[in-house]
Amino acid sequence: MRKNIVAGNWKMNNELSQTETLISDLKKQTKTSNAEVMIAPTFTNLWHALEATRDHDIEVIAQNMHFADSGAYTGEVSAAMLKSIGVQTVILGHSERRAYFNETDELLAKKVDAALKNGIRSIFCFGEELADRKSNKHEHVVESQIKNALFHLDANAFQNIILAYEPVWAIGTGETASPEQAQDMHAFIRKTLADKYGHDLAESVSILYGGSVKPDNAKEIFSKPDVDGGLIGGASLKAADFYAIVNAF
Ligand code: PEP
Repeated sequence: MRKNIVAGNWKMNNELSQTETLISDLKKQTKTSNAEVMIAPTFTNLWHALEATRDHDIEVIAQNMHFADSGAYTGEVSAAMLKSIGVQTVILGHSERRAYFNETDELLAKKVDAALKNGIRSIFCFGEELADRKSNKHEHVVESQIKNALFHLDANAFQNIILAYEPVWAIGTGETASPEQAQDMHAFIRKTLADKYGHDLAESVSILYGGSVKPDNAKEIFSKPDVDGGLIGGASLKAADFYAIVNAF
């Protein structure tokens, strides 16, 4: 049975005191849905966030990691380091990392392998740009991103893979894919998985939607059968908005 998940990607927001306040506000919210809740603070605040949520079911996850365990990679953080402080899940391949830090499918395949080797679950992000959708290449682009970064894995590995479809044109723009567009793409993604790994595996993988999900559109998007949750940017920075989305299931 696949899980419903709502993960907040805080990006490069929130200094330590703001992190303290937001976590304290999040802990005051009431969860009425069965969704797993995750938050991804910046690296410097991971330890604080882990400590502050020890008595709560919010999972603290990382926004990125390097593929090597250690070595001469100034400024980077490894899967082993994340694991050593208790992080169990990492976001990989976010479109901002692909666009601003030149992360390619090939590099992301190495990061996924490193996460798996260290027992860390990946939220693997992918999605087409506006030009791809306008030229009707969106399915082809998404299929390539998934195949290039993930299809070297064996079926067991998918127990530790969560997928996040995030059309680039909908991230931080206020423009959301319609619930039908999201469902069509999620069904296509599940079929792509089924063609390679079989129906049962495809049905077991959680596929999140990301791109301007807000309290007022979450319910309709999450009502679609192949949408198993959301990766939330802007709306995850306000506790009440984030939990309104969590409770939209
Ligand atoms: C994201 O950054 O993954 C995202 C979906 O952002 P937003 O919700 O702000 O569009």
